[in-house]
Amino acid sequence: MTAEQLAGGVRAGDRRALARALTLVESTRRDHRDEAARLIELLAPAAGGSFRIGITGVPGAGKSTFIEVFGLHLIAQGLRVAVLSVDPSSPASGGSILGDKTRMSELARRPEAFIRPSPSGGTLGGVARRTREALLVCEAAGFDVVLVETVGVGQSETAVAGMTDLFVLLLVPGGGDELQGIKRGIVELADLVLVNKADGDLADAAGRAVEAYRAALTLLRPRTPGWEVPVAPCSARTGAGIAAAWKTMLHFRETLGAAGAIAERRAEQAGEWLWAETAEALLERLREHPGVRDCLPGLERSVREGSLPPTVGARRLLRTFLGEAKSACSASPPAPPPAPSAAGRLNHVAIAVPDLDAARTAFARLPGALVSDPLALAEHGVTVVFVALPNTKIELVTPLGERSPLRSFLEKSPGGGIHHLSLEVPDVRAAAASLAAQGARVLGDGEPRIGAHGTPVLFLHPKDFSGALVELEESP
Ligand code: GDP
Repeated sequence: MTAEQLAGGVRAGDRRALARALTLVESTRRDHRDEAARLIELLAPAAGGSFRIGITGVPGAGKSTFIEVFGLHLIAQGLRVAVLSVDPSSPASGGSILGDKTRMSELARRPEAFIRPSPSGGTLGGVARRTREALLVCEAAGFDVVLVETVGVGQSETAVAGMTDLFVLLLVPGGGDELQGIKRGIVELADLVLVNKADGDLADAAGRAVEAYRAALTLLRPRTPGWEVPVAPCSARTGAGIAAAWKTMLHFRETLGAAGAIAERRAEQAGEWLWAETAEALLERLREHPGVRDCLPGLERSVREGSLPPTVGARRLLRTFLGEAKSACSASPPAPPPAPSAAGRLNHVAIAVPDLDAARTAFARLPGALVSDPLALAEHGVTVVFVALPNTKIELVTPLGERSPLRSFLEKSPGGGIHHLSLEVPDVRAAAASLAAQGARVLGDGEPRIGAHGTPVLFLHPKDFSGALVELEESP
């Protein structure tokens, strides 16, 4: 299925197309990444219409119970809801603690809902990147609300707060300690705090917790200017406070949407996404680079053992990746740039032709070409026609005499072809020595001869050069 067909299916609301599209954006395979990028490009114009809600809370706070009840409430309001998760700890086997369908069994059965577990494996950056794309895909599929769930124990909340319009922190009454090990940084990300399990024996404790959190929050600078973070009780078990929570969220969207604050948040997130995406993609390429890959284990070991400063190791990896150094393994300083004598300007390309007259007529038709008369160079065993172009020359060469070196070339390629590239260098011998050191074979006795332009020339056969020769021609 092409990206176009997949995009069409997603936009038409086809669930199988949606699932396939999500599998594609979650894939880390390079060819899949290219296809996924194409898909996202096609879907982007249809995305952006959902209310993006992030939800976090420590394991056991009741997130999945809440999402089930909350999702069903949204469906009762005539809305369609998608649920995504960011859980970098999720193993490849798919046994994720988050997004597990069995935890939201009723919601999962509803045609108006779509639940997708966290993409598994990889760095937080990688998981977050795939979830951002999944979010766009769900939007293009027409979901009114996209819930992005994460565990409240690490860096993933920042990632989720960075891709949603509103961030909900789900807490539970208890323990006495004010913020239950939830890091202060996470509380600062919240736009709404819900104290769950406000039912039964926990009802009183929930009431006290709400008061305590309200007091604590007054000490914090609200994340969104113009929005005082509400703290409210709810019960995912009884459903109490769920409708009120949704009302508060709608109020947030109306108030801040009108003020342009949501658009601003999204714009900021898009800018951050650009850099996160660039960083992730670059890292991926870097890790795949053969030179980097070969050396990484040893280099990491040296850094861990303390024999290589991390800064030096990082620079070495980067230089290898950028092609400025052959390998990050070698501890020797980077190779010096090639000597000036080896640096060559293209003087001309020589093409061996079986029929010089026919070739001369044909090349005379090139725009801007000036064509010389044939010149016999008995000493070199060739007849040559110079084709002058505004910035370079082509030489058409054909064998002269029985022992012409061109005969074997035309035996192998009877139709002709590129015979050599001619580079102008200040010092033929030095340039030849430099190329020979890299495996090129010098033709003849290695002594320069006087070429067609009256300066010393040498021919070389470089390795892996598709059979073409290199002529080094000394600058006049
Ligand atoms: P998660 O790890 O945050 O997804 O939490 P779960 O949704 O799996 O809930 C953890 C436990 O808390 C389960 O045993 C739930 O039945 C229970 N639970 C969830 N919400 C409530 C609630 O509102 N009231 C009560 N009493 N228990 C709840």
